[in-house]
Amino acid sequence: MGALNVIVVGAGVIGVTTAHALCADGHQVTLLEATPTAARGTSHANGGLLSAAFCAPWAMPGLPRQAMSALFDRAAPFRWRLDGSMEQLRWLRDLLANCRAEHFARHRQRMMQLALRSLAELRVVARATGVAFDLRESGVLQLMERAPPDALIHRRLEALHAFGLDAQWCEPARVQELEPALSSRGRAAWGLLVRDEACGDCERFVQGLLAWNRARGLRFVPEAPVETLELDRSGRRLRAVRTPAQRWEADAFVFATGVDTARILRPHLRLPVIPVKGYSVNVPLPGNEAGRGLVGPQRAVIDDTTKLAVAPLGSCVRLAGMAEVVGHDRSVDASRCEQLVQHYESLYGLLPPGARSHWAGLRPMTPDGTPIIGSTRIEALYLNTGHGTYGWTLACGSARLLADVLAGRSGALDPADYALDPARRGRP
Ligand SMILES: Cc1cc2nc3c(=O)[nH]c(=O)nc-3n(C[C@H](O)[C@H](O)[C@H](O)COP(=O)(O)OP(=O)(O)OC[C@H]3O[C@@H](n4cnc5c(N)ncnc54)[C@H](O)[C@@H]3O)c2cc1C
Repeated sequence: MGALNVIVVGAGVIGVTTAHALCADGHQVTLLEATPTAARGTSHANGGLLSAAFCAPWAMPGLPRQAMSALFDRAAPFRWRLDGSMEQLRWLRDLLANCRAEHFARHRQRMMQLALRSLAELRVVARATGVAFDLRESGVLQLMERAPPDALIHRRLEALHAFGLDAQWCEPARVQELEPALSSRGRAAWGLLVRDEACGDCERFVQGLLAWNRARGLRFVPEAPVETLELDRSGRRLRAVRTPAQRWEADAFVFATGVDTARILRPHLRLPVIPVKGYSVNVPLPGNEAGRGLVGPQRAVIDDTTKLAVAPLGSCVRLAGMAEVVGHDRSVDASRCEQLVQHYESLYGLLPPGARSHWAGLRPMTPDGTPIIGSTRIEALYLNTGHGTYGWTLACGSARLLADVLAGRSGALDPADYALDPARRGRP
């Protein structure tokens, strides 16, 4: 197939990595973004974790019980405020159906395969472009208050080793050795260390990769919100999209518009993607840069008890967590951010006072956790969306898969596993 004229809509981490993969394939790419710059949406201040081991669907056995108890616990990481819309009710029905063990196992397998591919691709892209993004490859450590039964630890390690991951179980003394900043007055913690994993600043990566591609011919158009789609007379092919200022024709269109994708495409396609809100707090921690000192956290940490994610990013530490089904409300609830700080301090001790920035973002979540990547029943309309909790991790692999589908190339992953069509994807 020759070079195509492709429009990518949305300049978050998914749109920018997609534009990069398409440019690398020799296509003429135009990237349309609603806001004045890239990474203003969910990719702006996420948790920073780059982890295949912990990449798993939200829909898992035990979730319905946790969700019910969250209704009566204001401090729980999960929060629900249902608006009664058909979209939300349908999504919840599918989420519950996907909590069955066999569906969870299937979707986790798909997510992990994509994540492993993605992390390998991210390293290739970073090497080829030289984009800097505070990458810290010191593994991801999961903390647990109590050691699970031996059989469970054994099963978990076996599953991670089967994926080729270097994972090991750590007693509290080893955890303290790995993370000296964990307060000796804090909770004792056992740990699962996955060595091959990392953390990095998603926004820096997106900005750097965009600049690199613009210098090599990518056309970036900010403040260009796509408002409508124009199909041909048969209604089978997408011919153009319209922004307030212009009509844009192309051979192919890729929507990477995160939580807005379902709304934009509603007249033409029904997408099972809803927003799940999360929060982050960015805390300056000068002197904590990789290789410099032991001021704060040295590696990415996930606390199993509070679901807090901690990532050292350059001279800052990023705290992230919470999952709220509250529609498209992007407001920042300072008390939820304060909860993240309290969870952090229960592990590491007091944070230095100073300018902390609070942020809220909406994860574009499918009910089975697996993103939607590939073609649709409308010719020339492609999707790369629904990356939920792990879009930063999954971005470069999703971009490569989308580029392979567009080129009709077969790659390491089966595109049917990530297709929109529920029958091909094997949704319940
Ligand atoms: C609190 C929190 C912590 C997280 N932590 C992690 C983590 O540790 N690791 C990890 O891997 N992932 C993490 N994630 C998930 C990750 O951030 C998301 O999956 C990812 O950012 C989604 O990227 P995206 O490009 O699809 O969406 P976005 O970044 O939202 O990009 C979509 C873009 O489309 C644009 N757009 C929307 N509508 C239009 C339109 N009509 N026309 C043109 N442009 C449009 C938007 O302005 C936006 O720029 C976290 C998310 C949250 C909220």
